[in-house]
Amino acid sequence: MAQDFNRKEKLEQIKQEVVNLENSFLAQERIKNKTFPVIGEGNHYAQIMLVGEAPGKNEALQGRPFCGQAGKILDKLLSSVGIDRQEVYITNIVKDRPPNNRDPEPEEIEIYSSFLDRQINIIQPKIIIGLGRFSSSYLLSKFNLNDEIKPISLIHGCVFQVQTNYGLIKIIPMFHPASCIYDRKKEQIMIQDFKNIWKN
Ligand code: URA
Repeated sequence: MAQDFNRKEKLEQIKQEVVNLENSFLAQERIKNKTFPVIGEGNHYAQIMLVGEAPGKNEALQGRPFCGQAGKILDKLLSSVGIDRQEVYITNIVKDRPPNNRDPEPEEIEIYSSFLDRQINIIQPKIIIGLGRFSSSYLLSKFNLNDEIKPISLIHGCVFQVQTNYGLIKIIPMFHPASCIYDRKKEQIMIQDFKNIWKN
């Protein structure tokens, strides 16, 4: 329990730092729009971490990751392998919403990825799933797998074993759940990718 308190405290510290960010256009937008940063939620001892891109409108209004349409798909994918959202830890690389859901800029990924790095070190997941090209590319590059950065259509579901300072873990790129909203075929592919991971 003392250990649990420690993780909670460290994650709370990250939240405070994001709330007080001064060098970020997206943080200024958040203050102007009176919305919330989205730090992450779930089990602080999760074996599995899912990393999305950035909060959308609903997420910024509620301060919670994947609570809109893409979140419903994510819940469906998790339940297809018998996993409840509370068992995993869900976060994004970028913690503040890009205006009109535009793609995050490289400088924005640079500012916010240090928070993700710290979340990974605190939670120490055994499997990190990159949801979409931005988080998947970031994770592959963070673990020195730049040669593996390819279109997500080529690397989705591939398992990359990497060494961290807390042991060997798996990085798995996936499509972004939002890409399934109007594409049932993509949803079936994602369900199959999830099933393949949980088979192994
Ligand atoms: N898309 C993301 O990448 N993250 C969210 O939290 C919601 C939608």
